[in-house]
Amino acid sequence: MSGAGIKLELQRSAETKAKLQVLLVEDNPADAELMLRELRKDGFEVSTTVVRTPGEFQRRIREESPDIILADYNLGEWRGVEALQILQAEGIDIPVIMVTGALGDVAAVECIKQGATDYVLKDGLARLPEAIRSALREKHERSLRHQAEGDLARKVEELARSNADLEQFAYVASHDLQEPLRMVVAYTQLLSERYHGKLDADADKFLGYASEGAQRMQVLIHDLLAFSRIGRQDAVSENVDCKVVVEEVLQALASATRESGAVVTHTVLPAVWANRTQVAQVFQNLIQNAIKFRGKEPPLISIQAEKAGQQWRFSVSDNGIGIAPEYAENIFVVFQRLHARGEYPGNGIGLAICKKIVERYGGRIWVEAQPGSGSIFKFTLPSRGPDERVGARP
Ligand code: ADP
Repeated sequence: MSGAGIKLELQRSAETKAKLQVLLVEDNPADAELMLRELRKDGFEVSTTVVRTPGEFQRRIREESPDIILADYNLGEWRGVEALQILQAEGIDIPVIMVTGALGDVAAVECIKQGATDYVLKDGLARLPEAIRSALREKHERSLRHQAEGDLARKVEELARSNADLEQFAYVASHDLQEPLRMVVAYTQLLSERYHGKLDADADKFLGYASEGAQRMQVLIHDLLAFSRIGRQDAVSENVDCKVVVEEVLQALASATRESGAVVTHTVLPAVWANRTQVAQVFQNLIQNAIKFRGKEPPLISIQAEKAGQQWRFSVSDNGIGIAPEYAENIFVVFQRLHARGEYPGNGIGLAICKKIVERYGGRIWVEAQPGSGSIFKFTLPSRGPDERVGARP
């Protein structure tokens, strides 16, 4: 029977009159008979195997996979709790109900701790059928849950594999396209230079378009390659002082800052555990964007950091054009932009790179913004290396 078939059968047996295969761990035939009578009275069609020794018990659970185990607590030479231990060691999920004479609190707790689903006293056997139904229901729910967890784990694995395939594809494609494209760019440029004015006006225009298109494609492919390299390169992590990194980035952006009249301020910035070049890339992309997507006023950019558990949460805020909340997720996807290139230059790769870098270190990046009222980009990075993190194994 398939797994689903077994479950269906179990469900039926849990909810309606059904065949019930019982493994009885009981050394007293009279007690066994009383139990079976109670079950039959309640409408169960019972088939039973009685076992008296641990060895027999082990063999039966391996060979027969009963629906339920009813075990006495005191069995003379051994105890029903040992049956629970055997079941656990075998890794078999069959509900066990202890059916016993008087059972003290300590013993009852021990049974439940060891994995018994329930216990029923021998002088209260009327409760047995309902205890069995509820144990079977629980098992059914458990197996559904296991199946769902298994499905989820498989999906996550598939997704990770297809992501890795896609990244590999993007890497190979962008890498291998570079070479032929270099030739296209070189020869269209050569054509433009050598034949400019020698053909007709249309030809000059067409050559210009071809050359421009090829150069644009070169930039796109270069960006795509940069993006797909992030996960591949062995970027070594170290303690990176963000204050130093931000100051270097601001130096590199000095002319854009000057031209736009931007004022960039930052509070005390901490050290993070990541790759230095990648941290710089994140700050550079965010600051560059804050300058690029400015409003009518000169850009006011502020960089801050606050501790969030074992991470630092950074924010880069600006007074620029802002972003409509419905695009807050999209802008982090490769080549997604909200404006035409004529309006604001760019390829839509900067934020995708930031996201990939930040996620590589277990961090997160997001934006809080409204159109016309500036944007705050926030991201987290680990404050310490894996060995130093609180709770890390030595
Ligand atoms: P690019 O800057 O090349 O367009 P990005 O990936 O860096 O690519 O950004 C994607 C889009 O997100 C931008 O085109 C822009 O629409 C929006 N965006 C990014 N940063 C800002 C910002 N600081 N203010 C307003 N919009 C922004």
